[in-house]
Amino acid sequence: MSSQPKSFQLSPELHNYLLDHGTPPDEVQQGLIEATAALGGISVMQIAPEQGALMTMLTQLIGAKRAIEVGTFTGYSALAIARGLPEDGQLICCDVSDEWTKVGEPFWEKAGVRDRIDLRIAPALETLAAIDEADAFDLAFIDADKTNYANYVEELARLVRPGGLILVDNVLWGGNVIDRNESSEDTLAIRAFNAKVAADERFDTVMLPIADGLTFLRVR
Ligand code: CA
Repeated sequence: MSSQPKSFQLSPELHNYLLDHGTPPDEVQQGLIEATAALGGISVMQIAPEQGALMTMLTQLIGAKRAIEVGTFTGYSALAIARGLPEDGQLICCDVSDEWTKVGEPFWEKAGVRDRIDLRIAPALETLAAIDEADAFDLAFIDADKTNYANYVEELARLVRPGGLILVDNVLWGGNVIDRNESSEDTLAIRAFNAKVAADERFDTVMLPIADGLTFLRVR
């Protein structure tokens, strides 16, 4: 297990306790964690295993059949969502990197979910804008360039059905959202995004302090 707690606001001891009291990653997930760790520092972009387990459960709980992911990296979150879908379910994955997504593909195969995943290598805004199926999706996950979060939500608000769920990653941004000395472009974008969706009447909004912060937007 990674020694770097991704639920950063917990002590390492509490984080380990939390990991010890949930369903652990199976062999395929563990393999993908290791393959991603081998890439070096960039591996911090992988979602936490406890978040993956939550996302699989959410996918199952809302009975999602069609899902969209914006930002796939090495495919751990896609694996989590795809596993929660029924056999005839579909997950559209948007990413700009062939290199990173290729790391994940063999693990999607091993998990038996490769045929549920439709990987589209292109700027996500182009991919989303080209999907002409309003209210056709049950679930979405955003974990890509932070300065475009608001734009992704606009597209997804059109694509996700009423009662569907949009999940947004990294909304606590390592705690920088409340650090007055922090004014990087990404931090400013996440702060503005968080304020915007909290006031957006199209959604019921819950921010969960798991990993680096995960916002639930339930489409009204
Ligand atoms: Ca992330």
